[in-house]
Amino acid sequence: MRVAVLSDIHGNLPALDAVLAALAPYDVVWQLGDVVGYGPQPDEVVARLSEIGARGVRGNHDAAAIGALSTDAFNDDARAAVEWTSARIGPSTRDWLQALPERSTEGDFTLVHGSPRDPVWEYLFSSAVARANLGAFETQHCLVGHTHIPLVFREDDGHVEMLSPSDGSGLELDARRVILNPGSVGQPRDGDPRACGMLLDTDEGSVEWRRVAYPVEAVQSLMAAVDLPVRLAERLTFGW
Ligand code: ZN
Repeated sequence: MRVAVLSDIHGNLPALDAVLAALAPYDVVWQLGDVVGYGPQPDEVVARLSEIGARGVRGNHDAAAIGALSTDAFNDDARAAVEWTSARIGPSTRDWLQALPERSTEGDFTLVHGSPRDPVWEYLFSSAVARANLGAFETQHCLVGHTHIPLVFREDDGHVEMLSPSDGSGLELDARRVILNPGSVGQPRDGDPRACGMLLDTDEGSVEWRRVAYPVEAVQSLMAAVDLPVRLAERLTFGW
């Protein structure tokens, strides 16, 4: 089975469509949360994911947008975007977000937004934190998002190594457990503004990261038109 693995789409429809095209053909879509927040098209993104039958989990922005999580810990721009999103989304988007679990299992993979031991908030940025999370999931492997940075954490003989995949990077899965981050579709933060996604082939046991350009300026215009914070629009230019 070929799986398009997506995370942190953040209401960015052009980026989502570009990544889906770049990962095709695939059999299913798994998404790792933060479907909404920051971007200008939350309803459109949820409609697209619903239409293609995407399965997955909720992120902190999704939870906040439906009132299931306080925005106290959000920075000002993130909070403003959550408030805008919350006021803007329609009932079907709200219901779809409400139905997302914090954690799910698909075959050999556990899906969470942040980390297996703290799905909503913890950032998996380092080998030490990844190592501390290895006991928090039962499956062989785990898929996470939240950092907006493509990453691999691989357990080997008690150590955890960290790899930073770029466009076209691949990984063969073997007996070593891995925690994989596909990077962010709608708001990359690794200095590469191109949208990011990951193709997982469960039969071959292989993974590949792909980056794809999308019309950033069109998204920025939509954000300006609805008065989303300027800094959130500007960062899309730099992927930071
Ligand atoms: Zn996010």
